[in-house]
Amino acid sequence: MSTKVAWISAELAPFVKVGGLADVSSALPKELKRLNVDVRIIIPYYTNIVINGLQRTEIYLEDPFGEEIQIYETKDELSGVIIYLLKHPIFLDEPYKGDLNAKFTMFNLLTANFILINKKWTPDIIHTNDWHTGLLPYLMRKHKEIKNIFTIHNIAFQGKMSIDHLKSLFIDVDELEISNNEVNFMKIAIGFSDQITTVSEKYAEEILTREYSFGLDDDLQNHSNKVVGILNGIDSSIYDPSGDEVLLVKYDVKNIQKRFENKIDLLNKLEFKYSEGLLIGLTTRLYDQKGIDLLIDSIPSIINMGINIVVLGTGDQKYESKLSDIEKKFPNNFKFLNYYNEKISHQIFAGVDCLLIPSRYEPCGLTQMYAMRYGAVPIVRATGGLADTVIENNSKQNGFLFEKYLMDDLIFAINRANKAFENKIKWMEIQKNGMQRDWSWKKSALKWVNLYNKNLGND
Ligand code: ADP
Repeated sequence: MSTKVAWISAELAPFVKVGGLADVSSALPKELKRLNVDVRIIIPYYTNIVINGLQRTEIYLEDPFGEEIQIYETKDELSGVIIYLLKHPIFLDEPYKGDLNAKFTMFNLLTANFILINKKWTPDIIHTNDWHTGLLPYLMRKHKEIKNIFTIHNIAFQGKMSIDHLKSLFIDVDELEISNNEVNFMKIAIGFSDQITTVSEKYAEEILTREYSFGLDDDLQNHSNKVVGILNGIDSSIYDPSGDEVLLVKYDVKNIQKRFENKIDLLNKLEFKYSEGLLIGLTTRLYDQKGIDLLIDSIPSIINMGINIVVLGTGDQKYESKLSDIEKKFPNNFKFLNYYNEKISHQIFAGVDCLLIPSRYEPCGLTQMYAMRYGAVPIVRATGGLADTVIENNSKQNGFLFEKYLMDDLIFAINRANKAFENKIKWMEIQKNGMQRDWSWKKSALKWVNLYNKNLGND
C-alpha cells in the first residue's frame, strides 16, 4: 500500500506563489506521486486563487467559534495529486497580508481538525513546511500513529506570538514552552516533530550555528539527531529551454549557440545597445537576505567593467528606490524591472550570460538551478544550497563562487567570469556542465521516499 502523506503549505505554484516554497510544494509532491506516494496537499483558500475543477467536499468542519468552514478539493490533471483548500475569511486574498499570526494559527487548527475528521483518508505522515505550519506537530502530538516531518525552508521567519492568542482560540497550551508570554511556531515544530529537514546539506549544517540560526541553534543542537538536509530540485518540465513557449528561440545543450538569439531579444526588450560584454541578471525578492545592499554597492564597478545588468524583482522599499536611482544614473547599462513576472524571469534565464546571487544566506535557492538549466552561468555567494550546487574549482565547473560577504570578493568573482567569457570554448564548457546536470527532483525525491519509510519503520 502506498504511503499517505499530507503536505501542508502556505504557498503552491502556480496558484499562489511568493517564493521558492511555492515551487517546491508543487514540484516535489508531483515527483513523489510518480514514486507511488499518495501525497495530498492542503493549503488555505486565499480568495485570489483561481483553480480549475474545484469541488466542494461534503466534509463538515467548524472553526473554534462554530463557523462552518468550506473545504474544496481538486486533482491536478497531469500528476493526479489531490489538493484540498480550506476556506476561512481570515485567509484573505493572499498569503502574507493581514494578521499573519491569527491567520496561520487558524490554518494549523483547521488543518488538524480536517485531518482528524476526514475518516476516508488518514495520512501516515504530516509533512509541514516553515513556521506557517509549525503548530501542527503540537496539535497532533497525541496521535502518535501519524508521524510529523517539518521542513525548514527559511529559519529567519519563525512565527513568534502571544500565548493569549492561542488561548483565545481554545488551544490547550499546557505542554508549550512559553517565554515572555510568547511562543514560537518554528521552535514548537522543532520540538514536536519526529524529523526536521532542510533544503540543502550545507544549510542543515549552517542552521546549527549561531551565525545562521536566528536564535534557534540551541534548540536545533538539542534535536540535532533529527536534522537532515535534502537538496531541493526543480520542475524540469516547466523550466525547460527546449520546450519553453515564452522564449524567442528554444534550444538545448546540443545547440547552445542558438541561445544567443534570446540574448539579443532580451537586450532589445531592455533597450540596451548590443555589446560584446557580459549581460548579468538577477531575478529575486529584494530583501536583506538576497544581498541587495552588496549588489547596490557593487553596481558602478560592475558597469565599469563593460557589463550590463538587469534586475527583476520587488520587495523592500529602500532597495526599490535605490535601484530606481541607479537606473536613472546608468540608463544605458542598468535596467530595473520593478515587478514580478514569471514569463520575463524565464526570458532572463535564457538571455543573460550570468545570473548573480549574492545572498547573505540561501537555504537552497532555486534560481541558480533554473539559470544552469537554461545555460546562464551562476555567480553566487558560497552559502547554503548555492554552495552545494555551484562548482568553480574543478573540471565540472558550472559557475563562480565567492566566500565572504564583501564587495571586493564579489567583484573578483565577476572578474573571473568576465575573463572566462572571453574564451568562448571554455565558456561553453561551463554552460554545458550546468545544463547537463540533472537538477530535477528525481534524485532528491528518492531520498524523501527513504526518509518517509524510515520514519514509518519500513526501512
Ligand atoms: P526565495 O524562496 O527565497 O525567494 P528561491 O530562489 O528559492 O528564493 O525561489 C525564488 C522563486 O521566485 C523562483 O522561482 C524565482 O524565479 C521566483 N522569483 C523571484 N522574484 C521574481 C520576480 N520578480 N519575477 C518572477 N519570478 C520571481
